[in-house]
Amino acid sequence: MSSVTVRVPAKVNVQLSVGPLREDGYHDLVNVFHAVSIFDEVVAKESDSITVQINGKWADQVPTDDNNLAIQAARALAKHAGRSYGADLVIQKDIPVAGGMAGGSADAAGALVACNELWGLGLPPEDLMEIAGDLGSDVPFSLLGGTAVGTGRGEQLSELPTGGTFHWVFAPANGGLSTASVYGECDRLREVSGAQVPWPQLNDSLMEALGTGDAYALGSNLSNDLQTAALTLRPSLASTLDAGRQHGALGAIVSGSGPTCAFLAIDATHARDLAQSLTATGAAHTAVAAHGPVHGATLI
Ligand code: ATP
Repeated sequence: MSSVTVRVPAKVNVQLSVGPLREDGYHDLVNVFHAVSIFDEVVAKESDSITVQINGKWADQVPTDDNNLAIQAARALAKHAGRSYGADLVIQKDIPVAGGMAGGSADAAGALVACNELWGLGLPPEDLMEIAGDLGSDVPFSLLGGTAVGTGRGEQLSELPTGGTFHWVFAPANGGLSTASVYGECDRLREVSGAQVPWPQLNDSLMEALGTGDAYALGSNLSNDLQTAALTLRPSLASTLDAGRQHGALGAIVSGSGPTCAFLAIDATHARDLAQSLTATGAAHTAVAAHGPVHGATLI
């Protein structure tokens, strides 16, 4: 095989509950991931060494050296296989960079699936999940897709059944927010307030809304403990969220660590209209309609 293509989705967190800061610097999370139909495409071609090229409008914001998560994933897979394999990775990037939609993790997951196939390794999903967990806490979910709850640092995953398709609008912001700085701001705000941080708990009403496919109930149960920190670092996001609510979004939240704003729509037509209204009124410079859940990293 000389070339392999994998499609891999972005995610939104429909619940992100962040526990107290641990001694090791991480937080215990209850993190409900939901994969949505904004995709990066990772092509892996035969080569002597491991390289990456990024295409698309986000290309200039992504490193192409050893800091690229797709390169790190390919190297980790080659190490696991015990051989010095090569691959030229070409990524068509549609997932916003540093947008809270796990774009880098998606590329890492895509590289794992693509190189497993290109190199004829035939590793089972469990092995890829294990390597993914070492690469970053969002990478296993990018492999899995669908809807799933992550506990621990977010990397211990259980799939959640969903009773239907949900329709979304995503408004990426100009300029990303670093995940580490948003967690840091969250810790700082909590310290200043002095309030006791509760242990994170899965929201039963949210689970029920997902299970029955009830978009109205899902909209009123969306939650993100990082949102206040993201809004403190990027105050303009508050008016984008408000504009979405005024245009009938069933729920409006910052996606993960932001700054992408996520709006839950009633159906596909409403999502299209909402995306149009957000851009026409200048509340967002771009807005993309998408649906979920969708499959994780998939060979095409
Ligand atoms: P998350 O939602 O998982 O917290 P994010 O969506 O906010 O992450 P990413 O798009 O994954 O953020 O990018 C975070 C940083 O990782 C970027 O600033 C970029 O420099 C770096 N990076 C490394 N490899 C990649 C890649 N393949 N795609 C995107 N960013 C990458």
